Amino acid sequence: MRPEVSAAMLPAFSEDFGNPSSIHWFGQQAKTMVDQARHHVARLIHAEPSEIVFLSGGTEADNMAIRGIADAHKSKGRHIITSRIEHHAVLHTCKDLEKQGWEVTWLEVSRDGLVNPDDIRKAIRPDTVLITVMHANNEIGTVQPIEEIGNIAEEADIYFHSDGVQSTGKIAVDVKKLKVDLYSISAHKIHGPKGVGALFVRKGTTLKPLLTGGGHERNRRSGTENVAGIVGFGQAAKMAREGLESESALMRQLRDRLETGLKARIPLIHINAESALRLPNTSNIMVDYAEGEGLVISLDLKGVAVSTGSACSSGSLEPSHVLTAIGKTPDEAHGSLRFSLNAMNTAEEVDYVLEVLPGIVDRLRELSPFYKRV
Ligand code: PLP
Repeated sequence: MRPEVSAAMLPAFSEDFGNPSSIHWFGQQAKTMVDQARHHVARLIHAEPSEIVFLSGGTEADNMAIRGIADAHKSKGRHIITSRIEHHAVLHTCKDLEKQGWEVTWLEVSRDGLVNPDDIRKAIRPDTVLITVMHANNEIGTVQPIEEIGNIAEEADIYFHSDGVQSTGKIAVDVKKLKVDLYSISAHKIHGPKGVGALFVRKGTTLKPLLTGGGHERNRRSGTENVAGIVGFGQAAKMAREGLESESALMRQLRDRLETGLKARIPLIHINAESALRLPNTSNIMVDYAEGEGLVISLDLKGVAVSTGSACSSGSLEPSHVLTAIGKTPDEAHGSLRFSLNAMNTAEEVDYVLEVLPGIVDRLRELSPFYKRV
C-alpha cells in the first residue's frame, strides 16, 4: 500500500469507527468517509458515484456481475460468451454455471492473447444473456479491444461485463466509452488494501444480489461496510487517477529496461505477447530450457519476487491456461516467468534482476539434457 493509503485508513479503526448505517452523527461521519471514497473510485473510471458497489474484491465483483446478471435474466436465455484466458474468478464462475445448465461459448484468442471481436459477433445467439471479457490479462498483460466489443454488445442489446482488475490504475479507463454495463475493480491492485473492491453497475442494470441481508449499497450488497478498507481504496483511487500518466510512463520505462536488458544478456528467451498492446507493468518472459519453478525459487533466494506462468492447484502443477490458450506447449508454459512492476520500483532494482538472472538461467540450463544437445 502507499503510505498515504494506510495513513488515511488509520482513523477509521479508532476515532472514526462509526457504522455508516447508523443515524447518529458518529455513523454519519463514517458514511461521509464512504461517500468520499465512492466519489474517488467513480472518478477513476468515469462512473457516477451511485454506480459503484463496494464489496470484498475482484473475485466477488466478477461473481456478482456474472451470477447476478445470469440469475436476473435467465428468462431470456441461458447462454454466456467469454474467453479462454479469463481470471479464475470468471472462468470458474462460468464453469459452475455450465454445471447448472447454462451454455458457455469459450472464445479462442490469437497467439498474442487477443479476442477477435468478430468471433463475439458470430457467437451471439437470441438466448445470449451476457458477454464477459477481461480488459487486461493478469498473466501476459494484453489489453483487449473492449470498446469494440462494447459496441457489439450494445447493438445486440446484451449485457457486457469486463474484469478491469488489472487495467484500472495502469491505463485510462472510461466505462462510458468502453460501453460496459459492469466492470470489476480490486483495491490491492492499485496500492490499496486487500479484501476490498468494487463493481461498477451501469444505471438501469438489473442484477440479483449475491448476498441477502440489510440491503446495504442500495440493496446490491448487504453487510456492514468495510469502512477502513473502503477509505483506503478511495485514497488509492485518488492517487491512481492523479498519477496515472506519469506513473504508467515510469512503469513502461522500467518494463522496457527489463525486457531489453534480459534479451541482450540471455539467449533463447522470448517475451510473450510482445507485439500486442500490453499493460505498461507486466512482462511475461519465456526462458527456453529452464524450469519456471526453479527460476522462481532461485530469484526468491536473491530477494526478487516473481511468479511463473503456471498455477499450482490441488497438488498438481497445471500449466497456465492463458499460456496454453496462446499456443504454448505445457513445457513452454512451465518455463515462463511473470514480472509485475509498479511505479515505486526503481531502475536499480531492474538492474539487479539483470545482474542475477543470467547466472540463474545458466545454472538451470546446465541441468537440461535438451539444452546441452542444442
Ligand atoms: N481478476 C483479475 C484479472 C485478477 O488479476 C485478480 C487478482 O489477481 C482478480 C480478478 C481477483 O481479485 P481479488 O484478489 O481482489 O479477489
